[in-house]
Amino acid sequence: MAIKYLKSLDLAGKRAFVRVDFNVPYDKSMAITDDTRITATLPTIRHCIENGARTILVSHLGRPDGKAVPSMSLAPVAERLSALLGIKVMFVDKPIGQGASEMLAGLKNGEVALLENIRFYPEEEKNDREFGKKLAELADVYINDAFAAAHRGHASNEAITNFIGECAAGFLLENEIEYFKKAMVNPAKPTTAIIGGVKISTKIAALKNILDKVDNLIIGGGMAYTFLKAKGYDVGRSILEADHVSTAKTIIELAEKNRVNLLLPVDIVVAPDLDSADKKKLARFDSMPADMEGVDIGPETIRLYEGVIRGSKTVVWNGPLGAFENPAFAAGTNAVAGIVAESGCLSVIGGGDSVSAINQSGYADKMSYISTGGGAFLELLEGKTLPAIKALDR
Ligand code: ADP
Ligand code: MG
Repeated sequence: MAIKYLKSLDLAGKRAFVRVDFNVPYDKSMAITDDTRITATLPTIRHCIENGARTILVSHLGRPDGKAVPSMSLAPVAERLSALLGIKVMFVDKPIGQGASEMLAGLKNGEVALLENIRFYPEEEKNDREFGKKLAELADVYINDAFAAAHRGHASNEAITNFIGECAAGFLLENEIEYFKKAMVNPAKPTTAIIGGVKISTKIAALKNILDKVDNLIIGGGMAYTFLKAKGYDVGRSILEADHVSTAKTIIELAEKNRVNLLLPVDIVVAPDLDSADKKKLARFDSMPADMEGVDIGPETIRLYEGVIRGSKTVVWNGPLGAFENPAFAAGTNAVAGIVAESGCLSVIGGGDSVSAINQSGYADKMSYISTGGGAFLELLEGKTLPAIKALDR
């Protein structure tokens, strides 16, 4: 793919349309509870400011379904961003076509504006061409830094690119693309994928694609029990997708065919349910108690996985290895996070819950890269080309 990166753009005096993902969580009083998504784009925004661009930031927030919903306004984000940048960010609350251009005309070189939630317009999610053209008229260059939204082709990340002279990926999107390439396209070998999470059904396409690329595939989390069932073992009351036992069999066969070392848990932490940590105990994979469910991987499994990770040069990880939200069931995920962090491997981690789990483990700073995309990261693992990235390819 031939994608331009932000560094190569001449920005001086230009109006730069920057698509960001400021889809941050609010509490009931509309206070931002986590600004990671804002801080992740600061390098791109600062670069635009320092290079004399007139920066126009565009984002969605929540699912207003094409209507102006006051509780999903980006106004609090404009305030937080002003504080983070130390300059006043102009909040453009006038609609596009009805006053927004007039407000933006007042923007000077080195200044920053943020448009109101782009999903207030029904044309956005429809990827409407005319709307894309209208958006393009606001600017001279287009920069996409919204990786977490890149798997959805919408007007502000796809249609617009047909009508604007120069398009590039911002620093955040560049990092996402380059680290993913290092992990899955041209990785240092041997490579290991760690796939966990609650269900196999959401990860089938990713598992199949990964089996073409890695040397080792480590399985954990709720999906491990569907694999164990496929091997003929009873899994008690563990999460089991009965209609995907055959899928798990297919994946086991594919691993054999591709000579991928597929690893499943050998010992399992079981509990009567997710709220009964005090009654947890250890079981072997071939003798799980009928009245309990698997909630985490056990210590022998951790050691088994450790050996494989230590023998690897690249690790890509999606999906927690246990029901980590309860600290009593997070030991497996935490231990493996520590092993990955200290292994010296290139480590790339993605997935909404995976990122929470790694943050909880305390090893986030020691990973090579933590993706900002959940669905977008999973689609990369599936081998898909994301529409918003394809749109930058000239
Ligand atoms: P991601 O968002 O990173 O892609 P998933 O959404 O696939 O990850 O899975 C995360 C969820 O899987 C977490 O909420 C975690 O509690 C759950 N999970 C992992 N292992 C188990 C298990 N053994 N039993 C129940 N839930 C589990
Ligand atoms: Mg999830």
